[in-house]
Amino acid sequence: MKNEKKPLSKKVKIKCQGECQEFKYQNEFYFNYVAENYSVICKECDKTRKRIWYLENKKKADKQRKAWQKENYELHLEHQNKYNNSAKGKAVQKKYRDKMKKEREEKKKKICLKV
Ligand SMILES: [Zn+2]
Repeated sequence: MKNEKKPLSKKVKIKCQGECQEFKYQNEFYFNYVAENYSVICKECDKTRKRIWYLENKKKADKQRKAWQKENYELHLEHQNKYNNSAKGKAVQKKYRDKMKKEREEKKKKICLKV
């Protein structure tokens, strides 16, 4: 049958082609059903690569979003205004204002107590 996982040979060690370059047993490698063979990169290196890919793509996505905001500044402001004027946006602003007010009062109280 095609795409069947080959039996593990516990005696054979394969050299990882990833970052670690270590010799590892087959169970340290993922089985690739497309290639019908074991991956040349061990599970640990695969994890690392995925993490790096995620971080790089997150950075890229952030950059793209910021670039978009810069290019579409007016539109961005419009979005923000719309949000600020929405019930949810207003609630958030009120909460923020109340918090700042409270903090100011707390500070005042502290200063008064000191004197
Ligand atoms: Zn490795």
